[in-house]
Amino acid sequence: MAQALAIHGGAPAVTVSTAEGWRRRVEEEKAAVCALIDEGVLTGSGSGLPKQFEEEFKEYIGCKYVLATSHGHTALASGFFAAGLGAGDEFIHPAFGYLGSYAGALHMGATPVFCELDPETLLADPADIAKRITPRTRVINPIHSAGRPCDMDALLALCEKHDLVLVEDAAHAAGSEWGGVKIGNVGHIAAFSLQGACPGGKPVSAGEGGIVATNDRELYERALVYCHLHRSGVRKELTSPVYSQLEEQLLGWKWRAHPLALAIARVSLKTLPERLTKFAAARDELRERIQGTPGIEFVHNYPKAKGTELYGGLKLLYDPAAFGGLPAERLCQALNAEGVPMHSGRPGHAEYRRSLFTQDLPGLWGKGHPGPANVPLPRYREGDFPVSEALSGRVLSLRGWIEPAPGLIAQVATAITKVAENYRHLL
Ligand SMILES: *Cc1c(COP(=O)(O)O)cnc(C)c1O
Repeated sequence: MAQALAIHGGAPAVTVSTAEGWRRRVEEEKAAVCALIDEGVLTGSGSGLPKQFEEEFKEYIGCKYVLATSHGHTALASGFFAAGLGAGDEFIHPAFGYLGSYAGALHMGATPVFCELDPETLLADPADIAKRITPRTRVINPIHSAGRPCDMDALLALCEKHDLVLVEDAAHAAGSEWGGVKIGNVGHIAAFSLQGACPGGKPVSAGEGGIVATNDRELYERALVYCHLHRSGVRKELTSPVYSQLEEQLLGWKWRAHPLALAIARVSLKTLPERLTKFAAARDELRERIQGTPGIEFVHNYPKAKGTELYGGLKLLYDPAAFGGLPAERLCQALNAEGVPMHSGRPGHAEYRRSLFTQDLPGLWGKGHPGPANVPLPRYREGDFPVSEALSGRVLSLRGWIEPAPGLIAQVATAITKVAENYRHLL
């Protein structure tokens, strides 16, 4: 017999708390921060605690070189500089992406060329990227959204073929793996973010902060000269005959991380493996429990990818046709009434629809300049990315849990199957 849906006055399927049960180690964070305050260590890089954090993160990822920066976007900008990006070059970024990811490239005068998402993985589609490569393309800038790795084999093959640099937005991807190797140790140069606070912030969080990771000495030295003015021992680190001519002020940006932030990041990094394991267990339980529900499935991952979803949450693909055309918003209202905090939406922000790419903004880039470095920005219109646009109303998001209340995952699954079995009452 059909049960009454909660939205129609029936009993909600979820009766236990949906709050995250995991707690960060606040006392340990306070002790680490206070120790630095007591010691008067409130600045610096290349030594002391900032260096210690870089060593620990490097060991965790397994890569050769790491630099802690002020933010994820400054880590990305350093990656773009490392890649040699400049005025007149093009870089490729997902049409549904993030301005903070490519702002550095934009300000260097490079031109964004947006690409489609793969409708099954919701990640930058390598086949579509291939079609957009021109002789001016210098960088591919994909996002490992929600820590789900992009198709690294396909992207690296494109880079190899066209002599491009892969500058990965790994803001969500600390701990994610490709073929058993951690992101940051797979491609050319990757940028992580330390934004927010655990457990809701980036996988390793410190309030604000970022990390550049690479295995390439040349890319490392270029990132270093771009972002770490007055780093301890920096002159000894620079082996390039050109960069070692620079004074200690390098190129003038002081984009190093704050030591107090890194003290918090160290505590966060310590708990990352535990959080990843528990989050994945709860996610996998939910996936198994709802498997076979027509019209709702977890987003696909590439076979070699091991995603984390700790930041950005769980994404599900919804097929309204299996629900008699029921809009995703209505489905989510019914799920919310059952007690499931599910949301519907687009797979990201429509970057190509920003006023930067749809309107003239006279004077913005300097008097008489049509764009950064006097290179005009491209123009985009609604309809330019039909595959990604068609995902609107087909993507569901659920935050996920590290430590769900006992029985919560089973109840969430029950709620989803209950709504799926009774969707006709919602039409
Ligand atoms: C958080 C984030 C960044 C970097 O952000 P910062 O706030 O500068 O650390 C970059 N890209 C994506 C997709 C992000 O979510």
